[in-house]
Order: sequence, then structure tokens, then C-alpha cells
Amino acid sequence: MTNAKIPSFFPDVNTSKKLLALLGWDKIHAQDPSGKIGCVARMEYNQKIYWAVNGAPSDVNNPADNAEKIDILESVLINYCKNAIIVHLDTTKTNINLTEKIIDPKIYFPHAKKTVLLTQYQAACKNSSPPQDKIEVRHFSCCERKLIEAVSNPQKDSFKIDVLKPPCELCLAAKEYLNNPNFQLNYANWWLVKAYDELHHLGLV
Ligand SMILES: [Zn+2]
Repeated sequence: MTNAKIPSFFPDVNTSKKLLALLGWDKIHAQDPSGKIGCVARMEYNQKIYWAVNGAPSDVNNPADNAEKIDILESVLINYCKNAIIVHLDTTKTNINLTEKIIDPKIYFPHAKKTVLLTQYQAACKNSSPPQDKIEVRHFSCCERKLIEAVSNPQKDSFKIDVLKPPCELCLAAKEYLNNPNFQLNYANWWLVKAYDELHHLGLV
């Protein structure tokens, strides 16, 4: 069993809306009408605020798609949160190291060794059929795990992450693996807020 404090239920509309406000989601979304930023997370650690968005470059040698998202986030944060630290995906490190104890990477990376870099993963995808699966990309793309990589000792240090969407199975696995009672993870139920706003727009709630 684990001490990890993961809420058992999805948060309600009001709790989620408060978190969306903390994350500046309206401002980020307004500057990102194409919806390229799918998720955003904010971390409080060592009296500093760190931010990350979801995504991994589809080609590590040409990281333009990810850079574009990061640019949108940075342009928002310049006004919204001075001294913000933006955490980028470190393509020289694996993002799997936090989950490998829980999920056998061989299931997802049959060609690879125990830990996988994004470059190795992309090379394997080029030679495999069917092409890359969503869950495989998520090994590298989740904003929560980018932030965890920025913590010196994620199994002991005290830190808090607020994130737009409920964590995926890989992030939950990372949280369980860390088993750190000083790691607080709060997430919004973004889909519920979206549905609620649409119903409200129709005058139904
Ligand atoms: Zn995730």
C-alpha cells in the first residue's frame, strides 16, 4: 500500500474552476485559440513557481511543435506570473524512470532497453507498425512528470503540483512509485467544467 494522497473522486465544478483560475487557464486558452496547449501544470517547490505544458516534439531534431506551445505559455506567463520558471522536456533524459518500476516498459517499447530516451523511442517508431500509440507518447509528454523531473529528490522533498486535467495512468504510477507524503497533487476536472459551461450557455443549469 502507499501513502500517496490521490483523491479518490474527480473534483467538483467549483473546486475545478478555482484551480483553472490559479492556472490562468482562461488567459492561456485565449492566447491559444487553436487549442495546442492541452494541459498545463504549476508547481510550488523551494519557494519558487514552476510551470509546464503538455507535449513532446514529434521529431526530436526538429522540436518546433513543442516550442510553439512553450512560446504561447511563456507569452502568457510574462504578464501573469513574473519570475516563473518554465520546465521544458529534457530530451537527453528519460521520462520513464519514474514509471518503470510500475509499468514494464518492454510492454510499450519492445525494441528498447529498460529506460528509453525520446530519440530512441522515435527511431523505434519509424521502423514499427502500427505507428506510435498515444500512451507511448505520454511517456514523454505529460506536464506533471516534466515538473517532477525538476525536483531534486522527488521521493523526499516537499512540493505541490496543480494540474488542469486528472492525471493519466502513467502519472498516477509515478506518484505511487514516489510514495512521498510531501508530494501534493491537485487536479481540476477540466472536462466537467467544459460540460457545465456548455449546459449553462444553453440555460440548462
Ligand atoms: Zn500523465
